[in-house]
Amino acid sequence: MTIQWFPGHMAKARRQVTEKLKLVDIVIELVDARIPLSSRNPMIEEIIGQKPRLVLLNKADMADPVKTNQWISYFEEQGITALAVNAQGGKGLHSIVQSAKDILKEKFDRMKSRGMRPRAIRAMIVGIPNVGKSTLINRLAKKNIAKTGNTPGVTKAQQWIKVGKELELLDTPGILWPKFEDQQVGYKLALTGAIKDTILNLQDIALYGLRFLEAHYPERLKERYSLEEIPDEVIAKFDAVGKKRGCLMGGGEVDYDKTSEVIIRDIRNVQLGPMTFDMIEEIESEEE
Ligand code: GDP
Repeated sequence: MTIQWFPGHMAKARRQVTEKLKLVDIVIELVDARIPLSSRNPMIEEIIGQKPRLVLLNKADMADPVKTNQWISYFEEQGITALAVNAQGGKGLHSIVQSAKDILKEKFDRMKSRGMRPRAIRAMIVGIPNVGKSTLINRLAKKNIAKTGNTPGVTKAQQWIKVGKELELLDTPGILWPKFEDQQVGYKLALTGAIKDTILNLQDIALYGLRFLEAHYPERLKERYSLEEIPDEVIAKFDAVGKKRGCLMGGGEVDYDKTSEVIIRDIRNVQLGPMTFDMIEEIESEEE
């Protein structure tokens, strides 16, 4: 679903996360493995503060596995444990409890040495809309406690979900907003289905996708749309794909909106293979 993030709405979301932070030992931050930076909240460090954190690169089944490993190293270099998971299929989820225990070992050892009774780790899940928060909670709970999809404005009593004996999870995730002011980030969010394409111009999103494919996965682009060569010119690119896919108007001219929809849908549905849109090289060149 799409959420309009007005300043008031953001402040409220932030307040809700901050309130719940007090109840937990650790924050499980979900990001989309295809866009590990673009799917993060721009103020995440500030919101979470000193609270220990585990990052999950979710939807790893749709991301480029080589890039996913690079991103895990990137987080690790910053002292943040990151795991690649697939909340839908369940892959990687078995490591969550152990990672949380490792991260919190000192704190729990300290509690034990002070004679406090051992208890389960308390955690909450945070992330932007559509990153897979509800899917993960349902999967970990092994029954449908959290509904899939978000219901803004509905508050209910806090419930804890037991994940084995060692972890307890708040049943409602913290919803954060993405970095939508940045246009590039907007395109990436649209191509991964995090935001609806009605927010941005359809043809701009598709063009961004085409250019990305051309730069990083040209062979897949050629194969998917049976192109001998990728034309240089923007219109010619759309014409080539539109003609191959039969996106034509009455007079036989290419329908650019329809062509754009096809391209966006193909990318979102992984028809061009698993892909990662955020590149470590991009931040490195920004930092230089
Ligand atoms: P939320 O808004 O963060 O709670 O996101 P949802 O849990 O509603 O998930 C959004 C969409 O992503 C749903 O269609 C899920 O089925 C899908 N999804 C969630 N996790 C994964 C995953 O690991 N892999 C894939 N392929 N799809 C996923």
